[in-house]
Amino acid sequence: MPKKKHPKDMTTEEALKHIFHPKIVKHVKAIIRSTTQRGIKVTIEERVFIEAGDLVEMEIACTAESCGGRASFSLTKNGIQLPYACPSCSTEWFHRMSDSRKEAIVDFFDALRRLRELKNPAFKLRLRLHEERYHDAVFVSST
Ligand SMILES: [Zn+2]
Repeated sequence: MPKKKHPKDMTTEEALKHIFHPKIVKHVKAIIRSTTQRGIKVTIEERVFIEAGDLVEMEIACTAESCGGRASFSLTKNGIQLPYACPSCSTEWFHRMSDSRKEAIVDFFDALRRLRELKNPAFKLRLRLHEERYHDAVFVSST
């Protein structure tokens, strides 16, 4: 017969069997097993949405080196008058004659304004943001 171990020298498994009734040991192991399995299967998915009503402003930011110029347009006001050039460095943003980019921005602005005012208790319209970019933005703004 093997010499009895002192509890301080026992493994967790041996201590469990030494202290508890076999039925309790079996039950505890089943709980640990199911918890571990659940833990492995859990995936945390974070989805970031923005609702049209959360939008307040559209901004065009100049990309010319070290400019920082911008033109902002409130979505709570009617209409949008886009400048043809950066108000800070005068870099041309749009062609003066006809520019499909300018038309697309004006159309988008008008659509956002209409969506902001869309009221329907049966649903809400929301746009999903790219998570990684969102987290980068949070990181940048918190430093
Ligand atoms: Zn500029």
